[in-house]
Amino acid sequence: MNTTPSPLAQRLAASATFAMVQKAAELRAAGIDVISMSVGEPDFATPDYIKEAAHKAIDENYSKYSPVTGYMWLREAVCKKLKNENNLDYTPAEIIISNGAKQALSTVVMAIAGPGDEVIVPTPCWVSYTEMVKLAGATPVSVHAGIEQDFKITAAQLEAAITPKSRAIMLCSPSNPTGAIYTKDELAALAAVLEKHEDIMIISDEIYEHLNYIGGHESIAQFPAIKDRCCIINGVSKAYAMTGWRIGYAAAPKWVISACNKIQGQSTSGPCSLSQKAAEAAYLGPQDDVERMRQAFMRRRDLIVKLAKEIDGFEVNIPTGAFYLFPRCSKYFGCKYGDKTINTADDLAMYLLEVAHVASVGGDSFGAPDCIRFSYATSEENITEAMRRVKEALDALEK
Ligand code: PMP
Ligand code: GLU
Repeated sequence: MNTTPSPLAQRLAASATFAMVQKAAELRAAGIDVISMSVGEPDFATPDYIKEAAHKAIDENYSKYSPVTGYMWLREAVCKKLKNENNLDYTPAEIIISNGAKQALSTVVMAIAGPGDEVIVPTPCWVSYTEMVKLAGATPVSVHAGIEQDFKITAAQLEAAITPKSRAIMLCSPSNPTGAIYTKDELAALAAVLEKHEDIMIISDEIYEHLNYIGGHESIAQFPAIKDRCCIINGVSKAYAMTGWRIGYAAAPKWVISACNKIQGQSTSGPCSLSQKAAEAAYLGPQDDVERMRQAFMRRRDLIVKLAKEIDGFEVNIPTGAFYLFPRCSKYFGCKYGDKTINTADDLAMYLLEVAHVASVGGDSFGAPDCIRFSYATSEENITEAMRRVKEALDALEK
């Protein structure tokens, strides 16, 4: 029997975020009190008015296949959202609803790029970006922005990374894993570079749009000269505490949506019909819960920044969005515990899991091996106790 997976499957890395969730779950099953700061998902319940819409959808028999690109009424609701919140004009033919923003991203990458193409990925980036590019058969080209530049690439760095093979760039603002947000001026500078390279598509992941602690959201699609090359990715997971409902979307030029329609139609079909009704309610209903959760995340951000700054070996950058803290932790490299040496951020994350019983994610798979990610989408009590444990464990390390 041939049990060798395909070359494609062999080339892919497993998702480090979900791997850490799994490890924490195993320790918890063994009776250990693990505080989870690994996965990025709101700890709040989905707001009631959204749940009611889903109940009603069951009663009204929304139990059939939806169109592959999603129901028209949801695509219309997304267009309304894009107009009202972002002042962007889109028609339903320029929208595809997918099984989470993750599928929307992956499908858009596949629709645009293939073998021989390069996709520019500013790093640190979310663990799935480079693997999605590989899934499409294209080559990820990373452009690095360290903590000293607030984890944001400059226009000059972008210009230097562009080659005749460049087919797309994957931007993420607010960013997972860094929490950094590109200002309007910074986006304008990147847009000015991209304007000169008309074959490059701009994939803009805006899933953390509503978790912004410095002002209103800015989308790179606001610049008219490049709007017809922008593919905005967003969804309900983070803003409405709906990770498990699996609804995301892409707003993109019609030719991209048509290609996505074929890919999605041959792989997964349209997403869950009931979840589409819930997402429609999320977009069209009152937005007070979004603001309530944003304020809670902002308080947690302030708390974790204060506590992490008390840890000697961490260099802390203040995140302005999303719900991640991404301190530089390389001062601990070379430290020993038992017969092990900590050489990378992943080693440090394993140490913190085993000794402090705090689950985090090492920066290696985000393309930043000198940093470690803590998700603060958890209670203030958990954050306080987790940082106490982390400090105690790190203070105990010896060079
Ligand atoms: N983009 C980023 C940057 C994320 O952190 C996530 C979280 N999983 C996603 C996309 C996908 O979100 P979802 O599939 O739950 O909509
Ligand atoms: N985006 C979240 C994270 O980065 C959820 C897990 C995932 O999809 O990778 O932790």
